[in-house]
Amino acid sequence: MPRESKAAKQARAQKVEERMLAHYGEGECSLDYESDPFRLVCAVVLSAQCTDAAVNKVTPSLFKKYPTCSQLAQAKVTDVEKIIHSLGFFRAKAANLIKLSQMLVSDFAGEVPNDINLLQKLPGVGRKTANVVMCEAFRNPQGIAVDTHVFRIAHRLKFAGPSADTPDKTEKALLNIYPQKDWLFINHQWVHFGREFCRAQRPRCADCIIGDLCPSFDGETPA
Ligand code: SF4
Repeated sequence: MPRESKAAKQARAQKVEERMLAHYGEGECSLDYESDPFRLVCAVVLSAQCTDAAVNKVTPSLFKKYPTCSQLAQAKVTDVEKIIHSLGFFRAKAANLIKLSQMLVSDFAGEVPNDINLLQKLPGVGRKTANVVMCEAFRNPQGIAVDTHVFRIAHRLKFAGPSADTPDKTEKALLNIYPQKDWLFINHQWVHFGREFCRAQRPRCADCIIGDLCPSFDGETPA
């Protein structure tokens, strides 16, 4: 592909977003959290290296026993481990859930902060989780959560180059071409798109809704 100017890339990115919006709407979060920012933080922490469906199986029991951060802050780690043991890294996640609940109680008056930097002070919460919470709980996007789907799609669409070899660098590349208003939707839309079309293995390029906008597709399925 010949070198693409930033303006051309931004114009292509806009067309991609228009198609995503037409196909997926704003995109829905696939984690169940009952519109409660605290439950959302916990669910996103639990979703590391796990499917959202697996998280949704354990969170009803978790929040039945510990409905608020004050209650989870006082939980015994072995009790939380028992509830979430089907998830990968359940011991570390149980410890983080209790510690983050304790910090919410001690430092934030029991409220999840609407601030991307403060969110990242919570144990187990990195930039990706903080971005999801800012968008989903507060509709106040401060970035784009780059998970495995977003990372793969950004590179296949060549919105991020080979040197953007980490989620943080890929996020910077995306923020450079998408306006802030779009940051709200991209993670959810691209997760759905990554499951439906741009799968890691055998992507459905021939049927893809943005095949004509994708430099990786020239009639052959990309590697
Ligand atoms: S054409 Fe293929 S590689 Fe490109 S975005 Fe669509 S599914 Fe992904």
